Amino acid sequence: MKYRNNNFFIENIKAEKIAKKYGTPSYCYSYSKLKNNILNFKKNFKILNPLICFAVKSNPNLYLLKEIKKFGLGADVVSIGELMRALKAGIKPKKIVFSGVGKTEEEIRYAINKKILLINTESESEIKEIEKISKSMSKTIDIGIRLNPNTDAKTLSQISTGKKENKFGIDEKQFLNLVKYIKNSKNLNLKCLSVHIGSQILNHKPYEKMLKVLERVIKKSNFQFEFIDLGGGMGIDYDGSNQKLNLKKYSNAIQKFIKNHNSKIIFEPGRSIIGDTGIMLSKVNYIKKSSRKDFIILDAAMNDLMRPALYNAKHRILPLNKTKQKSKKNYEFVGPICESTDKFLNTNKFQKLNEKDYIIICDVGAYGMSLSSNYNMRPKASEILVNGSKIKIISKRQKLKDLI
Ligand SMILES: *Cc1c(COP(=O)(O)O)cnc(C)c1O
Repeated sequence: MKYRNNNFFIENIKAEKIAKKYGTPSYCYSYSKLKNNILNFKKNFKILNPLICFAVKSNPNLYLLKEIKKFGLGADVVSIGELMRALKAGIKPKKIVFSGVGKTEEEIRYAINKKILLINTESESEIKEIEKISKSMSKTIDIGIRLNPNTDAKTLSQISTGKKENKFGIDEKQFLNLVKYIKNSKNLNLKCLSVHIGSQILNHKPYEKMLKVLERVIKKSNFQFEFIDLGGGMGIDYDGSNQKLNLKKYSNAIQKFIKNHNSKIIFEPGRSIIGDTGIMLSKVNYIKKSSRKDFIILDAAMNDLMRPALYNAKHRILPLNKTKQKSKKNYEFVGPICESTDKFLNTNKFQKLNEKDYIIICDVGAYGMSLSSNYNMRPKASEILVNGSKIKIISKRQKLKDLI
């Protein structure tokens, strides 16, 4: 995805063509980028021969899941809906792990019936609930326990999950007690230790700290885990500074760690696979001038892309077609929704925009469409996949009549 003669292209397709033909706001993904991300991820961790379970919550588009599956990836799901979607995409149950703090009885039964690889549990109550259900079904169920390693991921506080004040995982002391408990259970089979310390992690150091904690806890537990599920969280370059997680360094740290343990590694990447494969195409509906800044009122809003409003996340915005004219004003890119948090970016460096111009919001492939809603009764945007010179609608724009 780049400019050719000042026009933005997605592979061989001029983005303007898509915007005009299919309307805005639209999510637009590059197949090559997706393929490269998957191959690059695999290459960096090749020596570990891990099971890579794509975190479906980052982007549950069925067509994309089918493409991801073709590269041999499994799925990390956090609800029955995601589990059904992953199975529908053809992902084998033995490549699916189920995470999340509040799985219901319905969800647990469904997961047991589908014979997925692992249910990763997050509390003593949940472990006892699964035991009760599997007993009633006369089964023995493979589970993991998610450890809360009390490790600071050094990321946005809203997407940090591995500290003791977070609701996720089980602390060391309880973890060790539960290992003993499960050893004596007829209906539970402990197979996995899982962790996931947060998202958009840009430095390998927090991961190294996390591995140290695992080392200590595994030693104390005196238990041989068949799987060690290290979660996801690998960060991407949102601000164009080229700062992203060095997967190779992380891989080296894991390699050292795994030498002492005869376990298979599982990863659950979401953002690092799909985040930078997608852009949002949007149109400038109005420019509202004020003394300090101009409000660039887009046709995309927080219901289409929630991350800025939810996490104060920053996504770069680019013009669809570059000109040499600089704007003298500060621009604030906003949506039309009746919330003051419905804004995307403030900038004093942008080319001069006119009403009806198109812009691009970058790196929206992960937690973009999946976090979208119908707030303000707005139909969901379309999703489009570009592969070379081919354009495919992989999710249609919602129709107003379906909403009303
Ligand atoms: C969200 C989540 C992931 C994926 O995180 P990314 O930052 O998108 O890689 C993986 N595992 C669990 C348990 C999660 O909740």
